[in-house]
Amino acid sequence: MRITKPTYFDTFRCIASDCPDSCCKEWDVQVDEAAAAQYRALSGPLGDRLREVMREEDGETVMTIIDGRCPMWRADSLCRIQAELGHEALCKTCREFPRLTHDYGDFIEYGLELSCPEAARIILSTPAEMVTEEVPGGEEPEYDEEAMEVLLRTRDMARAILADTNRPINDTLALLLIYGYQAQGELDGAEVAPFEPQSGLEAALHFTAPANPDLMVEFFQGLEILTEEWSARLKHPATGSWDRAYLLLARYFIDRYWLQAVSDYDLVSRVKLAVISCLLIHHLGGDLTRTAQLYSKEIENDIDNIEAILDGAYASPAFTDDRLLGALLQ
Ligand code: SF4
Repeated sequence: MRITKPTYFDTFRCIASDCPDSCCKEWDVQVDEAAAAQYRALSGPLGDRLREVMREEDGETVMTIIDGRCPMWRADSLCRIQAELGHEALCKTCREFPRLTHDYGDFIEYGLELSCPEAARIILSTPAEMVTEEVPGGEEPEYDEEAMEVLLRTRDMARAILADTNRPINDTLALLLIYGYQAQGELDGAEVAPFEPQSGLEAALHFTAPANPDLMVEFFQGLEILTEEWSARLKHPATGSWDRAYLLLARYFIDRYWLQAVSDYDLVSRVKLAVISCLLIHHLGGDLTRTAQLYSKEIENDIDNIEAILDGAYASPAFTDDRLLGALLQ
């Protein structure tokens, strides 16, 4: 079986008490069955407290947020379960966060989640070099192998577009969107054709409509909102400049979502998700790492929000292709 991960994956370390926005804040932590059973059977004050704060919701066990934090969070910013029982006693969510696993059966891809501040710092400062190793095990692929071959090949091309730092950042993001349509065509069975960036950009210039950032913000205000900070940021955007780190940001979204199109053959909405995310983060401005991390916490960690954007990529007037190109090229 093939395992692929960015070189920084194994060196990630949680910065715990130095973390500016702990993963123990605001989120309902979902407790897996094995951990929930262990916690329920635990004796002593920690067991008593765990039984008090765990609750059932939609068939899942979750920790009840108290004063905006996980009730296991201690004043020294450490986790009470980890401190008293050790790392292995953490539930799966906490043991793995912010590590992402995409398991396709015969190959696995690992990554880090942008919603962790330390992971965001690494992702937006370090070009992702991927390493691959072969390990024993694995299962028969359950995906459409032909589609996966196209997705792997076109993702390499998308990565190459983002790695080219010779053109303005916004032009590169426009090219990513344009290439997304070509890649979708190949996924749908079109012949493989060379990608011509210059002629793509020239054609796109005739296909732009005035950007409407207010419409985009309105769309995001209609999604589920977790924190007051996010609500305030949406109300008071402070548009930033196009920094090279946006290429790393787009690369993160491509790495995370591109192959997921194997499940429904819809690549364009995922490419648009990457572009829309970069546009919104750019529009909100502020410190890029913080804005991107907050975006991920609000949007990526809520599957309903992600699905709303994937749908909105086709249905919302905020995200028509000409408007997105206008926001990038005008
Ligand atoms: S958000 Fe990241 S750095 Fe912060 S406490 Fe959680 S894992 Fe550690």
